[in-house]
Amino acid sequence: MSETSFDLIVIGAGPGGYVASIRAAQLGLKVACVEKRKTLGGTCLNVGCIPSKALLQSSENFANARDHFSDHGIEAKGLKFDLTKMMSRKSDIVDNLTKGIDGLFKKNKVTRIDGEAKIVATGKVEVAGKVYEAKNILLATGSESTPLPFLPYDEKRIVSSTGALALEKVPKHLIVVGGGVIGLELGSVYLRLGSKVSVVEFQDVILPGMEIEVSKTMQKVLKKQGMEFYLGTGVTGAKVLSKTIKVQAKNKKDEEIELEGDIVLVSIGRRAYTEELGLDAVGVISERGRIVINDNFETNIPGIYAIGDIVDGPMLAHKAEEEGVAAAEIIAGGHGHVNYLEIPGIVYTWPEVASVGLTTEECKEAGLPIETGKYPFMANPRARCMGEKDGFVKVIAHKETDRVLGVHIVGPSASELIAEAVTAMAYEASAEDIARICHGHPTLAEALKEAALGVDGRAIHV
Ligand SMILES: Cc1cc2nc3c(=O)[nH]c(=O)nc-3n(C[C@H](O)[C@H](O)[C@H](O)COP(=O)(O)OP(=O)(O)OC[C@H]3O[C@@H](n4cnc5c(N)ncnc54)[C@H](O)[C@@H]3O)c2cc1C
Repeated sequence: MSETSFDLIVIGAGPGGYVASIRAAQLGLKVACVEKRKTLGGTCLNVGCIPSKALLQSSENFANARDHFSDHGIEAKGLKFDLTKMMSRKSDIVDNLTKGIDGLFKKNKVTRIDGEAKIVATGKVEVAGKVYEAKNILLATGSESTPLPFLPYDEKRIVSSTGALALEKVPKHLIVVGGGVIGLELGSVYLRLGSKVSVVEFQDVILPGMEIEVSKTMQKVLKKQGMEFYLGTGVTGAKVLSKTIKVQAKNKKDEEIELEGDIVLVSIGRRAYTEELGLDAVGVISERGRIVINDNFETNIPGIYAIGDIVDGPMLAHKAEEEGVAAAEIIAGGHGHVNYLEIPGIVYTWPEVASVGLTTEECKEAGLPIETGKYPFMANPRARCMGEKDGFVKVIAHKETDRVLGVHIVGPSASELIAEAVTAMAYEASAEDIARICHGHPTLAEALKEAALGVDGRAIHV
């Protein structure tokens, strides 16, 4: 095979593309991965999951010291933070992890090609004027923030998540348009650092699509922390003034609202990114902006596959990774599968939110008979030692079979606790299975056991 021909060319080195490249190389394919960014890792490592979690951690440490250390008898007088240092710590983490992917590519003999890829014909990819041949092409070009037509991003004062991750000053008043995961996470960062934060959300609840009880609990907790909410309210216009931005909105009662802030974060969702990819040239079909694939991740054009944010399903890094592995295994002649019912969704606010499987509302809509068990962290000894009282674990099980259909957690370290629920669901566990497993004491995980016991009305510690 010549230097310019490959078994597989992957376009995009985000969690979908880089993972698929490595897995395909492990399976013996000759693989190249094309990336137009200077660094590997895609949205997730560069401007998504990782930098947001770095800032969430720093701001959480500060807020803890300010608001909770005194409960433990610890004095933290004269507490200050240095935003520049927080930002450079974040950048160092990103730098380190993206370089790590370079190392993984070298270790697995994946050829990195720098530049923007364009499909010029079936099996032919052009990058910087050079044409490469591929037996298979995998599209993993990800997504971008959806803009509001009357509030175009300048990434200084009207920011997407990317601008919000790199502000030079803590805003006095941050207006967040969209109360989904990204808006609440980045809103939390600046709230903890002293901003006034107002969230405007078109739906009647924050975190739309999640278990309603979870959304309502989170709203209460974040409100207690100082976040302000305008729910059932749509942003209708904006005026950009020299120092501030005025955002006009209308609620469901037709009342006009005007908010004035120094920074506006528009986080109304993300859309698949396929610009300049040349999909029309080969006739790849998209529906509602996302590329259509079959169960084998193959588009309507044989030999062209797609995964991650550009195809249907939750826009999450771990979903993209799972699809990357499955697609690589299929392309290499094996079998690959993703169980879409068992993909956890996590919000890294404090307390955290984590969910897997069906919500109560979805079960009702599907006519599934259910029994639920709920256990508050208020009653969990480990949470009490940590000073955490908010939140709960809710287990939803089928009324007749007791099979776990969904688990929803608001609470400390929910992001880690959900892994047990995902494992249980992957093994088709019943609520009783979880309830009969011995959990260490005192641990937060005991709350899941108690909630599972609660499905049968026999929780012990509540
Ligand atoms: C602020 C924020 C926080 C997030 N937090 C989380 C989180 O905590 N957990 C989670 O699971 N998800 C999170 N996400 C979502 C997650 O980042 C995405 O779901 C994930 O990155 C999607 O992976 P992907 O491989 O499909 O695409 P991407 O990561 O978007 O990667 C696509 C890559 O393709 C490249 N590309 C595009 N077109 C071309 C071309 N023509 N030629 C060459 N290269 C091209 C792009 O430059 C990009 O690097 C977050 C997102 C944001 C914005």
